[in-house]
Amino acid sequence: MKHRYACDCHNHSSCSPDASDAPAAMAARARELGLYAHTLTDHCECQKYAQRYRSRVEEAWIQMEGVSQAGGPRFYRGIELGQPNQDTEAAKEALRGRGYDFVIGSIHNIRDYEDFFFLDYTGKPAGYIDGLLSAYWEELLELIAWGDFDALGHLTYPLRYIEGDHGIPVDLKKHQDAVDSVLKGLVRGGKALEVNTSGLRQKIGRALPDLPILRRYRELGGRLVTLGSDAHSTADLGRGIDQGMELLQAAGFTEFTLYIQRQPRQLPLE
Ligand SMILES: [Zn+2]
Ligand SMILES: [Zn+2]
Repeated sequence: MKHRYACDCHNHSSCSPDASDAPAAMAARARELGLYAHTLTDHCECQKYAQRYRSRVEEAWIQMEGVSQAGGPRFYRGIELGQPNQDTEAAKEALRGRGYDFVIGSIHNIRDYEDFFFLDYTGKPAGYIDGLLSAYWEELLELIAWGDFDALGHLTYPLRYIEGDHGIPVDLKKHQDAVDSVLKGLVRGGKALEVNTSGLRQKIGRALPDLPILRRYRELGGRLVTLGSDAHSTADLGRGIDQGMELLQAAGFTEFTLYIQRQPRQLPLE
């Protein structure tokens, strides 16, 4: 890694249904890369908790404890809660009794819809995509109001698919007020905004979110920013983190945030 304090605080092991490598393999790769810190954040899709995620969350915790006990530099235990606003009881249960270092709150699907990854965006009536995005911002506000998380994951997630994979341009200016409400909510709630670098290696070709939103968050008083590759394999771990740190500098930040026992710790962007 180019930066001394490069941290990857959003990535998945085989405890997530869509990822391939064991927690120990992810941690070994983090050491090989020379990451300053590595936080593993396997999925828990809250609305599917009882059917699909309860046992995975338990398994991930056990595996992460094993990695921690094996020693080694700065390994932290995290979780990515998907849609906790849609099933707050499940979210509460997923967190109960486990001393996570870091909790990411994400919205992958709006209520009664599939993950944005699976939606069909072509041949839809005018306003369909703007409608989906409006519902997405609304759910982010619900997530922030719920509040038991540390950083908001990949704020512009739907664009990864709408713009990136389907090539349909979106004018975010139309959504500026809604995006501002989300950013203000984060600042007010003392929550971090994540720079998710997965977009840099995917078709969309930019971080989630990108420079204008990072600048705006800072302008609104936001100082807590985390970095994650969203790797689903050892091969992608740490990818884009150096660029993400440079992006934050370009947005005017001098520090970024690492969560330990759910407390923010500011580190220099060096
Ligand atoms: Zn996610
Ligand atoms: Zn993720």
